Amino acid sequence: MQLLTKITQNPWFLGMLVLLFTVVVLWNMPIEKRKYGLSQSNLTTDYTGLLPEKIQRVIQTKNRNELQEIVKEANTTGKKISIAGLQHSQGGHTYYKDGIVLDMKTFNKVLWVDAKKKTVRVESGATWEDVQEAIIPYGLALKVTQSQSIFTIGGSLSVNAHGRDIRFGSMASTVKEMTLLTPTGEIIELNRNDHEEWMKYVLGGYGLFGVILDVTLELTDNNVYTIQTKKLKTDEYEGYVRNILDSDMTAMHYARISVAPKSFLDEMYVIDYNETGKTDNKTLKKDQAIRLSKLALDAGRQGGLLEDLFWSSQKHYIQSLDGKEITRNNAMRSESTFMEYTKTDSVEVLQEFFIPVDSFEEYMSSLKELLPSNDKNEDFKIHNITVRYVKQDNKTSLNYAREDMFGLVVLIQHGVKQKNMDRAKEIIKKWTDLTSEHGGTYYLPYYPYQSQEQFNKSYPESASFRIEKRRRDPNEVFQNLFYENYLTSRGNVR
Ligand SMILES: Cc1cc2nc3c(=O)[nH]c(=O)nc-3n(C[C@H](O)[C@H](O)[C@H](O)COP(=O)(O)OP(=O)(O)OC[C@H]3O[C@@H](n4cnc5c(N)ncnc54)[C@H](O)[C@@H]3O)c2cc1C
Repeated sequence: MQLLTKITQNPWFLGMLVLLFTVVVLWNMPIEKRKYGLSQSNLTTDYTGLLPEKIQRVIQTKNRNELQEIVKEANTTGKKISIAGLQHSQGGHTYYKDGIVLDMKTFNKVLWVDAKKKTVRVESGATWEDVQEAIIPYGLALKVTQSQSIFTIGGSLSVNAHGRDIRFGSMASTVKEMTLLTPTGEIIELNRNDHEEWMKYVLGGYGLFGVILDVTLELTDNNVYTIQTKKLKTDEYEGYVRNILDSDMTAMHYARISVAPKSFLDEMYVIDYNETGKTDNKTLKKDQAIRLSKLALDAGRQGGLLEDLFWSSQKHYIQSLDGKEITRNNAMRSESTFMEYTKTDSVEVLQEFFIPVDSFEEYMSSLKELLPSNDKNEDFKIHNITVRYVKQDNKTSLNYAREDMFGLVVLIQHGVKQKNMDRAKEIIKKWTDLTSEHGGTYYLPYYPYQSQEQFNKSYPESASFRIEKRRRDPNEVFQNLFYENYLTSRGNVR
């Protein structure tokens, strides 16, 4: 008995017990996927499930002539068409009431790779992962993508996505040519010399100017980078980024701002990817340590002290990456499975606010006054803020970066009862106004919390976007809930 007591009081024994407990918890932790998607019999939703709608028909085909016939027919019957990639957009951008949805996922061939010219031709339903697999043997990599590779090419180009690259500009500017099925049913080839106007509306055009069938994208070398990390105060960040932009050493960069109570909006860490002079043509990583990352994120989701602990563990983890090497392709395929959120009484949504580089410091001070530092007992919780550098863009009409900006990507959780939705709307609208006061804008692929007035202010070119839409799609064949909400008089976000 005495021996047993002695063993159980031994720190090694207790340590082993904790380790065993952690292994059992991790082993049994379900990695569920959120249920969403296109359906003819049930209600259709996108990733958040917040805007369920009945649609008429889903069409999946590999045949472009079949797509062409559907568009021509809709011009005479008055049917409405939407286009869906992987539906990670969150504001009903991929479907419309009683409409037809073109599900582009089967339209996914990589058509050719030109290693000499560093270009790839790919169908629009392919994912960045498909492209990376096709180009890696040539030692090539993408110029601009999101930080994950799970999205389709068509869906990414239609929102003009951005990521960790800080040199190549907007995603739209990496498109050399494309084949477009126009709203009136013609199949046309577009290139940069003759068709800048078409491209300006199709890229970042949210599926409202026809179907992108395939595109030629510019590529670059799959360089190997050294990861460099640093802890900063938010008021040091502006200067830090100016320095890395002035040197040629850093190719990619992102940062994270603390949302933990003790260091709220005060501490940051930055991650730079610095040139080594080496290239790689073989390694594509897969999702790793999913359960451990999920356990840490779930702890952070509790708020309060656990969120402080989560922030500390993130800082340690990031520090442990310092000096390690990573390829360009791998820096563009971060883990995503651990972020899946499957609760039904609440939702996790994204919002992104863009703020001119010069205004970052004052903006962060004002933001501290707007948001509570400890949201443990609030329904509206902020779980993460990541920062990207977004270069000025002049290639798209609905342009969120009219000058060089920082994009603050915010992961938010809130309840789905009407009162919770109303509260979330109220906070996000105030946040959008604050961003606007500092010369900033917000990103459009997400849930429509913002008002019509806020949309018009952030996107002054939306007036000409509307006019062009009606000129190039006279029967308004291509529709979705985003279009209805913000670009017609039928919208309900006033
Ligand atoms: C977890 C997560 C992380 C994200 N990270 C980033 C990020 O790092 N950077 C960033 O910029 N964005 C990011 N986003 C937003 C993301 O880039 C967009 O939601 C993108 O549209 C998703 O691609 P998708 O294939 O799911 O497109 P979908 O949601 O299916 O479609 C988006 C839009 O594109 C249109 N579309 C789709 N295919 C075509 C086509 N072939 N022709 C014409 N129009 C088409 C649709 O009609 C719709 O309007 C993120 C989103 C999530 C959920």
